Amino acid sequence: MKSSKLLTEIGLRLAGKDLLLRSLKITVAAALLLLATLATLGEVSRINTDALSTWHQHLAAILFICLCLCAAYLLLRKSVDPVAEVYCPRCTALGGHTRAPDSRTSVSPLAWHLGGFLLSIFYSGSKQERFQCRECGEFFHSHTAISRGYRLLFVLFVALIINYVWTDISEIFTE
Ligand SMILES: [Zn+2]
Repeated sequence: MKSSKLLTEIGLRLAGKDLLLRSLKITVAAALLLLATLATLGEVSRINTDALSTWHQHLAAILFICLCLCAAYLLLRKSVDPVAEVYCPRCTALGGHTRAPDSRTSVSPLAWHLGGFLLSIFYSGSKQERFQCRECGEFFHSHTAISRGYRLLFVLFVALIINYVWTDISEIFTE
């Protein structure tokens, strides 16, 4: 009797934590969407008024808007089981595979050095995960819906950094 009461309480606490996490996600996503809207408005007004801005600035604005929208989408999407759409490369069994611990390091020191905290989060999220097949027991690496989303964020973020560095370099050469 006592243990079932305890279990119910734990369940309620977990549900509360889930709700908190969900509302936090929605808040962050709303902030990102607002940021994207402001960036879009800024970009539109710049196109209309300031003819001197370079294509680097336009590209940076567009990449930034894409990054915000992608991140907001990832936060708002319904949490489906990411393992459900993973195929085994040997027997093509779909879904239900066991996650296998990966021996590779989770954060790349190079990514950490180049882009700091945010980039290394995107990088470690974008890597393929290791699974063991439920049918044939084969170990394999595969992307999940989540890691694909993170990979997109990673690519956009890297493009933003390259564009930023490129702007700096071209300014050095034109001065
Ligand atoms: Zn298999």
